[in-house]
Amino acid sequence: MHLVFLGAPGAGKGTQAKVVSALWNVPHVSTGDIFRAAIKEGTPVGREAKGYLDRGDLVPDSVVCGIVRERLARPDCRSGFILDGFPRTVPQAEALEAALAELGLPLKAAVNFAIDRAVLVARLSARVTCKACGSVFNTESNPPKVAGHCDACGGETYVRDDDRPETVARRLEEYDRKTAPLESWYRSKGIFHEVDASGAVSDVTAALRGVVGG
Ligand code: AMP
Repeated sequence: MHLVFLGAPGAGKGTQAKVVSALWNVPHVSTGDIFRAAIKEGTPVGREAKGYLDRGDLVPDSVVCGIVRERLARPDCRSGFILDGFPRTVPQAEALEAALAELGLPLKAAVNFAIDRAVLVARLSARVTCKACGSVFNTESNPPKVAGHCDACGGETYVRDDDRPETVARRLEEYDRKTAPLESWYRSKGIFHEVDASGAVSDVTAALRGVVGG
């Protein structure tokens, strides 16, 4: 199952990607996670990406596309992948199409997680993330059992710098300008699907399985 997850920051792409990647035993490829790990490790890519993430801007296509191409060429992607947070621009979608053609991999669907802007902003302002494993919680609707600690691994939870209100506004602006046009791009390819992402995690997973099968 080779899938792209589309949707604004906070729509729940990462949460659903974790659920179905475990269910279908396919890798969850999150470009945001790749950048956060690179920043933590202080690699050259991390140093280049940091300023963009801090401001809520998109990292240039020239940096992102090569990283994704390399990741998708690994053997674990042959039977499927969930791409979360990529593509985010039309040139990235074109680069993905070219990379998949070269690798001989099919793209089954691009699934958009549709959600109201007000719900998004509320979600992002209540989101906490585990420093160690990246699990995501919501202090209002899905708090960790022990405040400040991850249910999955016990790691410390924190508020991502880019989930702070000033940066959220910038990320949503970037989404509207550069990422939203992907909807019509994938519609024109005949593989665009949409799910209502405003419900509980299990409801969204059910809707997702309804549109892509599996
Ligand atoms: P995310 O965790 O998907 O919300 O991504 C966090 C940040 O990483 C974004 O705000 C961007 O700065 C950067 N990023 C992640 N994926 C991409 C991408 N496909 N293109 C450009 N920048 C990205």
